[in-house]
Amino acid sequence: MHRHEGHDACPGDAVDMLARAESLCRERGLQFTPLRRDVLEVVAASGKAQGAYDIAERLSVPGKRVAPVSVYRALDFLMEQGLVHRIASRNAFIPCAHVHAPGEGVIFLICRTCGGVDEESSQDLESGLGRTLERAGFTPAHSILEVEGDCGLCRDRKQAS
Ligand SMILES: [Zn+2]
Ligand SMILES: [Zn+2]
Repeated sequence: MHRHEGHDACPGDAVDMLARAESLCRERGLQFTPLRRDVLEVVAASGKAQGAYDIAERLSVPGKRVAPVSVYRALDFLMEQGLVHRIASRNAFIPCAHVHAPGEGVIFLICRTCGGVDEESSQDLESGLGRTLERAGFTPAHSILEVEGDCGLCRDRKQAS
């Protein structure tokens, strides 16, 4: 689990996320159904990216299974509302506690050791990418940047051992 500012995945954050999601849905006149709520709770409570099948497994109880397809539908909704991001390289999902400006560039830093995912936005990267795309005459619809490596904590742990 990562301990950067605002990136802890402690239960308190999950409560915050749910409260934020609830008021956001109310503001936008959208339904925050029990399943959407449960899915967000599982994503927010875990310290790492979760796959839809893992989420479905977590929500299933004996006699009442939650289908992955329902989880995917709930995740689609949560992504549209900017509450969850998809990590494309892992087909997994993380909660987002930020409010992103439209077109804001986000980089996901994925730790290959602990599986933690951090999110950074970089103005430098954005303008650099913008110039590169312009030179190439390419109009981006959206871009996702994912960097895999070791997080600071895991690096320190490796050096200590
Ligand atoms: Zn985000
Ligand atoms: Zn790590």
